[in-house]
Amino acid sequence: MSSLFTINCCKSFGCHNLGLARSPDYTWPDYRLGYAALHCRACGSNPPLFNDAEFRIWASAGLSDYAKESGHFCPACYQKEIIRYGHNPGGTQRVQCLHCKKVWTPRQQLTPIDPPEQLATIPLIVPFQGASADQQLYVLLSFDAIRGNVLHISSNFTPHPAGDSLLYRWHGMGESADIHNDIIQRVNQRETEFLRRSQFDEIQYGSAALKRNASGAVLRPVIAAHSHFRVLKTRFPEVAEHIVAHECFLRGAVITAWADLFRHRRGALWFVEEDIKDTACSTPWQLLGKTHQGWWQNQWQLWGQSDNRKMVCLLTKAPLEKGATVTLAASHRFITWLKEQPEFTHSALFSAGRVTKILASLARKYNALLSLTS
Ligand SMILES: [Zn+2]
Ligand SMILES: [Zn+2]
Repeated sequence: MSSLFTINCCKSFGCHNLGLARSPDYTWPDYRLGYAALHCRACGSNPPLFNDAEFRIWASAGLSDYAKESGHFCPACYQKEIIRYGHNPGGTQRVQCLHCKKVWTPRQQLTPIDPPEQLATIPLIVPFQGASADQQLYVLLSFDAIRGNVLHISSNFTPHPAGDSLLYRWHGMGESADIHNDIIQRVNQRETEFLRRSQFDEIQYGSAALKRNASGAVLRPVIAAHSHFRVLKTRFPEVAEHIVAHECFLRGAVITAWADLFRHRRGALWFVEEDIKDTACSTPWQLLGKTHQGWWQNQWQLWGQSDNRKMVCLLTKAPLEKGATVTLAASHRFITWLKEQPEFTHSALFSAGRVTKILASLARKYNALLSLTS
């Protein structure tokens, strides 16, 4: 419980303060980069500060609601040791938390799944019907990278009250819509976009105004990401390999959620950018070269497999040859399927809350189909 909602902390891999809420090495607020930041003297990093009280209130409501609905962990104490505890008069399964003895009835059927070895996460921009045309949600999708099933899907719409500092504000200027064809140039372009932001975690992805008088709110994507990964961390505390699309605040959210593991150097975290022309190709991947990119001068590896290319960036420590095995293939397969679903292609007709629910139900449908074919 203590570290579950920690959001203001050092987020540097290799720093002994990684994920710690308190350290004598911290000073804040620090404005040397032009925004309020936490300065960690041990590693010299300046992660942007959040309003942690507002985050805690909102995130704990969301986590409890998720637990009530899914039954994956306790809505009161977030522990995972749950037993079946009879049925309620309507015949649905009740469960009890072994830790705090809370009893509740999850709204979804409990289907235990094997924990993933690798977690792969991508963002997806999805239209919804809001105050005017062209409103969009920032959606995060996480997969078991090996088995391919969806493990969690969330959007930056929230039905829960959220403090002002957590809300997304569109300033009318998005990031480049022209995606470079060359994969190395594309990585470079993304890094340049991170630098153009008012702060690294402040993405401007498009307008997201709800209908007048609609309840709920639209959150900054970085806030949605922190919550998204805390759900996954509570469900899968031991997953040690994390693959994320090239987005710097996804790195921060993953490393903070599993900070205990990363602080003890037991986890690996990768950015992956892929150009897959032939999904059936089975020849081995070959390392074609290395380059350093962006503000952090991270090392990227370029891998090739026939006409397929991928760029991978290791943000922690792992053997170089591991780069051959990390992939976002699970997400490509799901997105291809998703784009064939009428509920998805018509998302612009539905409210933000409805779109979020539709996506979750499509993910359950996809998982069910996948379990039939495996
Ligand atoms: Zn540090
Ligand atoms: Zn409990």
